Amino acid sequence: MSIFSEPAFDDHEQVVFASDPETGLKAIIAVHNTNLGPSLGGCRMWPYASEQDAIHDVLRLSRGMTYKSALVNLPLGGGKSVIIGDPRTQKTPELFRAVGRAVERLNGRYIVAEDVGTSPADMAEIACETRHVGGINDGTDPARTGDPSPFTAYGVFIGLKEAVKYKNGSDDLKGLQVAIQGLGNVGFHLCELLHTAGAKLIVADINSDAVNRAVDRFAATAVSIDEILSVNADILAPCALGSIINDTSIAGLKAGIIAGAANNQLEADHHGDILREMGVLYAPDYVINAGGVVEVHYCREGRPVRETNRHIESIGATVREIFERADRESKSTSYIADRLAEERFGKTA
Ligand code: NAD
Repeated sequence: MSIFSEPAFDDHEQVVFASDPETGLKAIIAVHNTNLGPSLGGCRMWPYASEQDAIHDVLRLSRGMTYKSALVNLPLGGGKSVIIGDPRTQKTPELFRAVGRAVERLNGRYIVAEDVGTSPADMAEIACETRHVGGINDGTDPARTGDPSPFTAYGVFIGLKEAVKYKNGSDDLKGLQVAIQGLGNVGFHLCELLHTAGAKLIVADINSDAVNRAVDRFAATAVSIDEILSVNADILAPCALGSIINDTSIAGLKAGIIAGAANNQLEADHHGDILREMGVLYAPDYVINAGGVVEVHYCREGRPVRETNRHIESIGATVREIFERADRESKSTSYIADRLAEERFGKTA
């Protein structure tokens, strides 16, 4: 098994393998960089096919958190954890207590929050063992449920509007067609914001109930999951899967703007260059989907939701800076986002 040679190892400060025979816990905690503050990132529970797959995932995700937090100006570094196991059958309160003890041993260098396969209830178990945890619904603020998704959707909405303003000279969404791939926690909230702003929605999801709800609530037009990426729309908002901009899909894209929540939308770096050559304005995913991490941070600090929202609105200025610099330097927006993040967290060569 290789770790140092993993492409995403990228000088991780610390990688911890946590095992607890009593509860069956097998977890990995990765702390990529703490130059700007303690590392924060979700805990994913997934039945990885191999330990190498789990290592690859945790390193890639924790590195991504360093870039995301730096660009959204949080005093945080990047970290992530993964539990190797099936969240449908292998969750127990004791397992999450053991995660909490592993997090506690890091003395605050890593702050854990929920992610795919974990929930606010799991974070509450972790909180019995450590205070270095976020994303808990303590019931003190009705505007907070512990779910960061509405805040993620708000940040995506802000970033999407800034992209429209940069391309069209106005951020008025009235009558613009937005194609949304994925109507889950983030996608559905985003639909609501876009609909309220007067956009016309085209939607697709593998879950037909979610599609029917969007059609009923927002008068959306439903298309198949094979059509959504190439429909005639002004904006494409990927809110389901990663790697959807790839060698197969890229030539079929018709939208002039891509702005969505899904992580790692570009399969490879060169797809950012191709989008630029095609004249497609790409709002880098991790820049505009940072609303959730902002909320986790503000919630932990006990600061009100209106401050979270004000901070999330700063995503507009950051994404504009990226668009302008990309044009000045004739580079892709994804390339510029990475360089700007590295300047902010002080990446050493
Ligand atoms: P989710 O699981 O609630 O929703 C994903 C939706 O995509 C589901 O409705 C699913 O049925 C649908 N889907 C799956 N495969 C599809 C396909 N081939 N075509 C169309 N639809 C498909 O997830 P979410 O929390 O809404 O997150 C959406 C994306 O945003 C993910 O990539 C996630 O990593 C990213 N993200 C989420 C947050 C957050 O706060 N939840 C924060 C940052 C990034």
